[in-house]
Amino acid sequence: MSRVLVIGCGGVANVAVRKCCQVSDVFSELCIASRTKSKCDALAASLADKTETKITTAEVNADNVQEVIGLIRSYRPELVMNIALPYQDLTIMDACLACGVHYMDTANYEPEDTDDPAWRKIYEKRCKEAGFSAYFDYSWQWAYRERFEKAGLTALLGCGFDPGVTQAYCAYAKKHEFDRIDTIDILDCNGGDHGYPFATNFNPEVNLREVSAPGSYIENGKWVEIPAMSVKREYDFDQVGRKDMYLLHHEELESLAANFPEVKRLRFFMTFGQSYLTHMKCLENIGMLSTVPVDFEGTEIVPIKFLKALLPDPASLGPRTHGKTNIGCIFTGEQNGKKKAYYIYNICDHQECYREVESQAVSYTTGVPAMCGALMLLTKKWDKAGVYTVEEFDPDPFLDALDKYGLPRRENRAPVLVD
Ligand code: NDP
Repeated sequence: MSRVLVIGCGGVANVAVRKCCQVSDVFSELCIASRTKSKCDALAASLADKTETKITTAEVNADNVQEVIGLIRSYRPELVMNIALPYQDLTIMDACLACGVHYMDTANYEPEDTDDPAWRKIYEKRCKEAGFSAYFDYSWQWAYRERFEKAGLTALLGCGFDPGVTQAYCAYAKKHEFDRIDTIDILDCNGGDHGYPFATNFNPEVNLREVSAPGSYIENGKWVEIPAMSVKREYDFDQVGRKDMYLLHHEELESLAANFPEVKRLRFFMTFGQSYLTHMKCLENIGMLSTVPVDFEGTEIVPIKFLKALLPDPASLGPRTHGKTNIGCIFTGEQNGKKKAYYIYNICDHQECYREVESQAVSYTTGVPAMCGALMLLTKKWDKAGVYTVEEFDPDPFLDALDKYGLPRRENRAPVLVD
């Protein structure tokens, strides 16, 4: 019996809330709060006669710490699930600390305004020292470790699929399959087709920033940065088939490198079709991915925000997306003195997701782990004070919950390796 506050009501939150409502004995009361309350009301209304969970809604601007504090104090939840945007991570963490409430999210902190001089100074120092130039990194949220520890509270970071389940797969491989892991390749394949010439599967701003940034990987404990989309491989994915995939920077590489220092090489690959890449390159070349405001006939507009308004809403892709996702990790290393390889992954069907929760598989594969992570915290299967990423907890009960609630694992003990 728990009371949980969910902040955000977009594609991922819609799935997470629907899944929480399937586990009403744990999620007995939910408040869905977001910037646009009408979306929360619509979701609550669609679930009213389908769940025992008591749902209320609220309006909140999560950029404003005092507003979030006010909402937490009036609702008194045990846990806040931040499923808004990475821009709100720090304000919501501040509010949780002020109110003595546990925290979780699905993506690490990134500032909305990357031209803010105070942020930029710290960012440029980090680029030089750490060796990667992504706008997001864990340092901002790891800086809260001591405060959460002292308050006896847990902050669970990045509990979607990747980041999230991919790190649980790493913890599982280390616990059950290897004495020593040498390499980890995370492979994220979306074999879905929504029929549009160009659309993003989750928040366009966050997605396009991630994909247009330089790629990077970790070799012998050091970041190696490469131009965006410059390393391409082809892989034959189970139940999806052959796809081109590209090496990207991805946030879990940073925490995995810290938590598995023995691993000699850590890479992340994501599949993209040629049409997606051509559209993205064109939008980038003409300045449509810029976050710098421009004056248009007397009105200030941010190009990427304007682009977001033009693109299909990711939440609307559900009914039209067919095909499957296949996301997982390939490991090489040693067990009992023998070299071995191991692949653990999940396959998720877009149309099956739509039938269950009216959403495509990209939101589903993020929303289900968010619910399962919350379940781990609320049932105290994961119970330690501080700020942690998923690989720092016992993977077994989490993977069992994923098996049960829609994202079952598959294994291959003789996988084709990525060169
Ligand atoms: P959406 O853009 O669909 O939804 C974001 C929601 O947050 C909207 O309801 C939006 O409100 C709300 N919101 C935005 N700003 C504020 C604010 N200041 N105060 C309150 N609410 C706000 O995003 P997604 O659902 O696609 O993504 C949600 C999160 O999940 C993101 O952080 C994304 O990076 C992450 N993600 C993680 C993945 C993983 O595997 N770990 C994969 C995919 C996504 P409004 O409706 O008013 O705009």
